[in-house]
Amino acid sequence: MIRLQRVCAVCGRSISWRRKWARDWEQVKYCSDACRRRGLSAQDRRIEEAILALLEQRAADASICPSDAARQVAGAGDWRAQMEPVRMAARRLQRDGRIDITQQGRPVDPDTAKGPIRLRLRQVGLQV
Ligand SMILES: [Zn+2]
Repeated sequence: MIRLQRVCAVCGRSISWRRKWARDWEQVKYCSDACRRRGLSAQDRRIEEAILALLEQRAADASICPSDAARQVAGAGDWRAQMEPVRMAARRLQRDGRIDITQQGRPVDPDTAKGPIRLRLRQVGLQV
């Protein structure tokens, strides 16, 4: 059986099946040439760790704004420049089952969510 949904290793967005990938669909890792070229850096891993560390400092059901993580990793630098890398890291963590991306306190699909999002640790065994 073909899995029709794969997730980009860089931006965490779903990759839609395309005919040109028919023979090596299981090996497709990136949604675009831009993501393949960008790849993942040590900084991207630091951003994932910063998101998890911020969440672990809070109550189990507390959430953070992506900008909290962006400010943390930017230090004295420009935190706004970190917002897109933070959102990408959040999507990767969500796909890995580590966190939920929420709006109005409910988990949302990051492919279709519009507007401000918040992040919180996935609560194991507390499926809503
Ligand atoms: Zn991508």
